[in-house]
Amino acid sequence: MNARWNGQFSCFDLVAKSDECSRTIVTVGDIEIGGDDFIVMAGPCAVESERQLMQTAEAVAAAGARILRGGAYKPRSSPYSFQGMGVAGLKLLRKAREATGLAIVTEVMSGEDVDLIAEYADLMQVGARSMENYSLLQALGRCECPVLLKRGLAATLEELLRSAQVIAMNGNQQIVLCERGIRTFETATRNTLDIAAVPVLKTVSRLPVIVDPSHAAGVRSLVPILARAAAVVGADGLIVEVHPAPDQAMSDGEQSLTFEQFRNMMADLQPYLAIREDAQRLSPQLVVNGGTD
Ligand code: PEP
Ligand code: MN
Repeated sequence: MNARWNGQFSCFDLVAKSDECSRTIVTVGDIEIGGDDFIVMAGPCAVESERQLMQTAEAVAAAGARILRGGAYKPRSSPYSFQGMGVAGLKLLRKAREATGLAIVTEVMSGEDVDLIAEYADLMQVGARSMENYSLLQALGRCECPVLLKRGLAATLEELLRSAQVIAMNGNQQIVLCERGIRTFETATRNTLDIAAVPVLKTVSRLPVIVDPSHAAGVRSLVPILARAAAVVGADGLIVEVHPAPDQAMSDGEQSLTFEQFRNMMADLQPYLAIREDAQRLSPQLVVNGGTD
């Protein structure tokens, strides 16, 4: 490994790769993230109703997803947008888990909500806007539930790992990292998917890395091809937005897949998953940050 990066990350000793620990497997119920399987999390941006959530849970489970996503607490860009159903949404997520056997990932926005959300969630999502909310990260460090840590809108990979270290040093090392696109000068996509983040993080960190092609793309037509890219560079899984009627969604409808599009995406991923194994073999030998322009 490049000496500079080695040095740069050695302070993040609980999340950096080391001779003693080269990878962490994050266990969510009977699901292993960071092991051999490519784990897909899917569901609506926000929990909106029982019917919407149940239909989506059944459709994504049938297509091969293992974890149901759905926000009950929504940090929206506009304060006038739908902010989520709160506890009623959490109860619906629990019901969907009972009906389908899917594990649940849902967002926690504040340290005060950690205990409540941990009663319902199998994986606690830290949204991009909360990546540097250290009191939230500290509270998640003290909780028993694994954490999905999304990269901030304008965060470097070093800053992402610094946030992961805050969770780990407070006692919880079950952390999954998520690349969800960053802000750049480009406006053709909602965010710029930093695909290099996957092999870089897999090289310097022991933690599993998944990709969110939905928030990166901002438009549903690009989601399946970005999902393929994620598999090819060695990601450990995906988190994808799916809705029964995307045009009527209360949040992020433009980037949500229909059930049929999700089914096709999952089927079309198969050949790329074989390539993913190659990428995972390669990443320990990669040298990163090796030069200047
Ligand atoms: C989400 O997953 O719906 C979400 C709000 O994502 P992010 O925090 O990456 O914007
Ligand atoms: Mn969303």
